[in-house]
Amino acid sequence: MILFLLKLRLACFLYWNNYKKEEFDIMKNYNVDKIKAQFPALNRMVWDKPLVYLDSAASMQKPQKVLDAIQSSYSFNYSNVHRGLHKLSEEATSDYEGARKKIANFINCSDKEVIFTSGATAAINLIAYSWGLKNLLPGDEIIITIAEHHANIVPWQIIAQQKGVKIIAANIIPDEDFNSEIIKSLVTENTKIIAFPHVSNVLGTVFPVKEICKIAKDCGAISVVDGCQGIIHGKVDVEELDCDFYCFSGHKLYGPTGIGILYGKSDILIDMPPFLGGGDMIDIVKIQNSTFADPPARFEAGTPPIIQAIALGHAIDWVVEVGIDEIGKHEKKIISYGTELLDSIDGVKVFGKAPSKTGVISFTMDCAHSHDIATIIDREGIAVRAGHHCAQPLMDAFDLVSTTRASVGAYSKYEDFDKLAAGLTKVKKIFGA
Ligand code: PMP
Repeated sequence: MILFLLKLRLACFLYWNNYKKEEFDIMKNYNVDKIKAQFPALNRMVWDKPLVYLDSAASMQKPQKVLDAIQSSYSFNYSNVHRGLHKLSEEATSDYEGARKKIANFINCSDKEVIFTSGATAAINLIAYSWGLKNLLPGDEIIITIAEHHANIVPWQIIAQQKGVKIIAANIIPDEDFNSEIIKSLVTENTKIIAFPHVSNVLGTVFPVKEICKIAKDCGAISVVDGCQGIIHGKVDVEELDCDFYCFSGHKLYGPTGIGILYGKSDILIDMPPFLGGGDMIDIVKIQNSTFADPPARFEAGTPPIIQAIALGHAIDWVVEVGIDEIGKHEKKIISYGTELLDSIDGVKVFGKAPSKTGVISFTMDCAHSHDIATIIDREGIAVRAGHHCAQPLMDAFDLVSTTRASVGAYSKYEDFDKLAAGLTKVKKIFGA
């Protein structure tokens, strides 16, 4: 009886707490229900249960505005860009270049510094193959961190092996904010590149971007920020950060797949050779050699991802309309709530509790492998990620094989984590824990 009363009290507390929090958000003009209603995918059922989408760090769902933009661009003014002298091509070119301007405004740079790529992975490869092959010499060093996504490790390895360059990885403490002194202590006269994440896709730790970029500048290295998990949670001002490169993927910022952004400082881009050759990136072509266009065209060989770029522009319009800082504040509250809730469940261990943490909650369970957890809660309509999250060195460093990761977006609610907590109780029951 006492146990029953205690459980009832806890349920009432959680319900009331939740209700108050959602009300509070609405009062502050962040109406999460209104926002969520703009995402058609979030209204569907999965296994006869309402979808609980907690996999936004892998890819964000898309608001109707972006879906409409894709439909409308393909339906009314679709054509190839730059080369055509007809109305449709002019319109498509204006929309495509207009999207570049929107992105430049969003991150505060010149549109000449915004290169469209197919994603963050392609952007980092572009820097490695273009800047890296030209500038790196045997004995040089590249500093990364152990919390890197593979996209910010493997391109450097490929180039490092060709050029006789050493890769050095900074350690990270999962439950603490990253101290930039760790990077400083690894700098030598051979340091040429410092590449790091804005936000860890496993721990959610927010890196002190400005401080690390200053360390790079002071030692004459270039700074490369993998902004995939950062740009989605708060304002990014590349001028203020003073980074040399910042990249991200459109599909994580409410835009479509197949589009990414590489920001590069204009005085660095101008000295970089092309990575891919072909149409649209040239000045004059002869049989034996060619001259190249100025950036950004120099780095956009061939027919670009036209509609994807335009739709990313619309996604940014949507984000600006809602307010990126408001989105970030909302997500941080949800993440704090979720972290506390999951951590209070017996047998669940949350991995990563830095005060700055945002966006993701990684956890393990004593009783079950992450793949089993994800599979079981999928039947409850809950979508999470399970595995190494393309961060094997981080897993190795902490002796983990995998984690389960729940991640949020502008549309996430406190109740998503209540449902996840209930799902984990079911996992425990199944495994007899
Ligand atoms: N870096 C981070 C931190 C990421 O989370 C991801 C996507 N999981 C990437 C890089 C790679 O992005 P994409 O696969 O879109 O190129």
